[in-house]
Amino acid sequence: MAFKRNIIITGGAGFIGSHVVRLFVNKYPEYHIINVDKLTYAGNLANLKDIEKASNYTFIKADICDFEQMLTLFRQYNVNGIIHLAAESHVDRSIKDPFTFAQTNVMGTLSLLQAAKQAWNGDYEGKLFYHISTDEVYGALEFDGTYFTETTKYNPHSPYSASKASSDHFVRAFHDTYGMPIIVTNCSNNYGPYQFPEKLIPLFINNILQGKPLPVYGKGENVRDWLYVEDHARAIDVIFHKGKIADTYNIGGFNEWKNIDLIKIIIRTVDRLLGNPEGTSDKLITYVTDRAGHDLRYAIDSSKLKSELGWEPSLQFEEGIEETVLWYLSNRG
Ligand code: NAD
Repeated sequence: MAFKRNIIITGGAGFIGSHVVRLFVNKYPEYHIINVDKLTYAGNLANLKDIEKASNYTFIKADICDFEQMLTLFRQYNVNGIIHLAAESHVDRSIKDPFTFAQTNVMGTLSLLQAAKQAWNGDYEGKLFYHISTDEVYGALEFDGTYFTETTKYNPHSPYSASKASSDHFVRAFHDTYGMPIIVTNCSNNYGPYQFPEKLIPLFINNILQGKPLPVYGKGENVRDWLYVEDHARAIDVIFHKGKIADTYNIGGFNEWKNIDLIKIIIRTVDRLLGNPEGTSDKLITYVTDRAGHDLRYAIDSSKLKSELGWEPSLQFEEGIEETVLWYLSNRG
């Protein structure tokens, strides 16, 4: 069967990627979805058990840094769109091992761009290179009610955000230099099912379930904006189909939380769902030395995405946290 579109999704076995792959495979049977993932510690094919046999889905285990293999895949599958999520994504790991982050996030992105450029060979009709990035490239905000907008100057502080910023620049450079149709989106912190349990929300849910300490950096005063992962996947769908070429969209939940308040909500929700009296797990909160270079506040203005493309988050935070805790309760490792 000839598919209407052949789309590579990189990092599709990871947290956000698995939600994007699932959405596209189920919603667009006329598209062929080719999931390219190296299966690092963060990739897990069990995340995609429900769609792995779909006739419009192919999994390829590969490293995006392998340029020759990427070029072969673009040609073999006649790829006309790519949604690029594969990355090293954990800030704490980037502080210990920045080289791996430069390799995958910068060189891997460049390898995909170059493969797309050679395979498309100047024929950009109906093609799109869609790069998924983070709000962390913008640096940090004060507690002053300001937001990151699409025109905020890049000012990354961690090796992770520096590598993502660099990859964003390469993607835009391929548009400006070669005319490649690209889109970049910068999203705030995601939460929801299938996240690797080193990240704050699944780590804390698991620790509460096991009665282990909940390590809070500094005084827990850092502020993050949180978005339910399925809302991010929906935004990616809308932008992939209706976004303006060469444009940037911020994606966020207008949902800022101090870490310590977020932790208290998680504790309350887990205790309630387990039938424990309120406050049972409060004693697990343990303050630890702050992360080096810890950005104070991230807050993203996603009003452009709402006004131009009509997207907005669907879930209230308390609902999203409840869904997430319920998922981890029924999928205990
Ligand atoms: P993740 O760590 O859960 O998944 C990353 C996936 O990429 C894994 O499946 C891994 O196996 C794969 N991968 C890593 N290196 C690879 C390589 N060299 N070749 C092929 N595959 C490789 O990450 P995530 O949280 O799902 O994030 C996905 C993307 O979204 C990243 O680009 C990240 O920067 C961005 N992002 C994440 C968040 C968040 O809150 N998680 C927020 C904004 C943006």
